Amino acid sequence: MEKKHLKVYNTIYDIRKELALLRSVGKTIGLVPTMGYFHEGHLSLIDVARKNCDIVVVSLFVNPTQFGPNEDLAKYPRDFERDERLAKERGADIIFYPDTREMYPDPFLTYVVTEKLSGVLCGESRPIHFRGVTTVVAKLFNIVQPDIAVFGRKDAQQAIIIKKMVADLNFPVEIIVAPIIREADGLAMSSRNTYLNSKERKQAPIIYRALQKAIEMVQRGELDAESVERSIRQQIETAPLARIEYIEIVNEKNLEPVKTIEPGTFVAVAVWFGKTRLIDNVDLIDLEW
Ligand code: AMP
Repeated sequence: MEKKHLKVYNTIYDIRKELALLRSVGKTIGLVPTMGYFHEGHLSLIDVARKNCDIVVVSLFVNPTQFGPNEDLAKYPRDFERDERLAKERGADIIFYPDTREMYPDPFLTYVVTEKLSGVLCGESRPIHFRGVTTVVAKLFNIVQPDIAVFGRKDAQQAIIIKKMVADLNFPVEIIVAPIIREADGLAMSSRNTYLNSKERKQAPIIYRALQKAIEMVQRGELDAESVERSIRQQIETAPLARIEYIEIVNEKNLEPVKTIEPGTFVAVAVWFGKTRLIDNVDLIDLEW
């Protein structure tokens, strides 16, 4: 269902001018923030946005402030032409594609931090990551002023932090969290999956299999978080190339570990295969967020 016109804006001035015009004729605006190199996970967010607003803006920006000094900023996969084509085919209306200077004037001195939530789980090994995410998302909200914004459940901690930022700072935007899109073998789609070599790629679906087993355990009545965590660990360790960073069973409200599994409890994992860090998560008791 291809739309004829997909507009690409590189500057804040230009996209603001266009969006002001659209807003003045009553159009509602949805934002899908991304770092590009699209896969079906990203495109599913465009679908969700289209159902919930008139104009879909996809932002495409590999945000340097969310990468640590030894992370993969330089080699992060990029292919703007392909992304542009895929976004167009999927019915996006506008791509916002700024460069780093446009987003970060020099010197850049102001950051948004959601305390506590940004220091646990992925925040332990990536201490500045979520500060970068909340800062760039706050900037995107101010630039685009969307009515809704769509994020993927794939990055559960990110979605929870952004909801908290929006609540705490009164951003007038509704956050929608869309389900995880997976490959046929269960591996959660990610731009970083392209880093995996064929042996690593073959073993990576162990993550989702272990999480599925955990759900089955809970369905059979096992509510002790430690036992479920142990089972997930044992499963993942059967893959020789897997190196577990964390497996945590937490409460969705405050990301604190729980002893007993209850509605609102989910399990989040980070597992390395070689130089690639993969994350995944599932609700342990089926409940809408
Ligand atoms: P990224 O480009 O990796 O920053 O991701 C942009 C958005 O796409 C974020 O809201 C992610 O949570 C979401 N996303 C990434 N992978 C998936 C996936 N497999 N399923 C659903 N959403 C995803």
